[in-house]
Amino acid sequence: MRLDAFMADANARYYATHDPYRDFTTAPEISQVFGELLGLWAAIVWGAMGRPAPVILAELGPGRGTLMADARRAIAQAAPELAAACRLHCVETSPRLRAEQAKRLPNAVWHDAASALPPGPLILLANEFLDALPIRQFVRRDAAWRERFVTGGQFDERPSEFDGPAASDGTVVERNDAARALVSSLATRIAGQGGAALFLDYGPELSAPGDSLQALRGGHPADPLAAPGESDLTAHVDFEALAAAASGVTVWGPVPQGPFLARLGLYQRTDHLARSQPPDRAAALIAAAQRLAEPGRMGRLFKVLALAHASLPCPPGFAA
Ligand code: SAH
Repeated sequence: MRLDAFMADANARYYATHDPYRDFTTAPEISQVFGELLGLWAAIVWGAMGRPAPVILAELGPGRGTLMADARRAIAQAAPELAAACRLHCVETSPRLRAEQAKRLPNAVWHDAASALPPGPLILLANEFLDALPIRQFVRRDAAWRERFVTGGQFDERPSEFDGPAASDGTVVERNDAARALVSSLATRIAGQGGAALFLDYGPELSAPGDSLQALRGGHPADPLAAPGESDLTAHVDFEALAAAASGVTVWGPVPQGPFLARLGLYQRTDHLARSQPPDRAAALIAAAQRLAEPGRMGRLFKVLALAHASLPCPPGFAA
């Protein structure tokens, strides 16, 4: 199997049969403030769009539904007109996670792919979604590129048409065709029908060679090729390539997650919440905010990229 087919199949089985939160945690599970700030981001963008009603509020790969539940609560408080106007749509392939999401988002509608979202103005959120999409890997061997396939739990390199630049022997280059196709089609949709999409994920600002495929099994790093469906497979997101795949819209970022969240008011909101809590809970909220935003934690490796209709001003979080 070509690596991307292997990864797609392994992850589909993994998400259908496991509780991924036993293996890893994500920003919305770390602090409720994360989803609340993204809800406020959506409310401001909706205002800039001219407050269309109805508007589709969509999330790709909502996990447990925590981010959107927190976002909706913040929207209901800060922008009740948006709460009334928005139609909630989730893109999720795992039946097991759909059931989790339905507990927190009873009014949502589910789809298997972003291409199935109904037409109209759109505000879309995606946290740690793109990193789970299947990648291809090319390896430089004897002045030519070969592509990685998986046979019997091992890499198997086959001749390839890939025409990347020359590189030293053994160099690995990754390409996320699925993520690029998704961003490209969302850009076309937003250019035609209005709206914005926000992606938060980990990876470098600029494309760079390297093998970033990783597996987590039982909460520990594992061999990505062993036991497909038993571990979560991810790869770093190539934000430069994604920005290049979006045409007809304005691309904002990527900016590091730490400054993005700080500009949205992470620390003010956290302090405000902490003040009404007992000391241990207040300390936990502050520690969670630091984990999301500090450069040595999730604040620098994670990046934020937005696609927005060309008529929209700079969305919150992207300018100092
Ligand atoms: N956004 C969540 C979950 C991240 S895990 C959070 O921040 O906690 C990745 C999510 O994407 C899971 O819900 C998984 O089932 C879903 N997913 C992975 N690949 C997918 C695909 N190709 N299509 C739709 N959903 C997918």
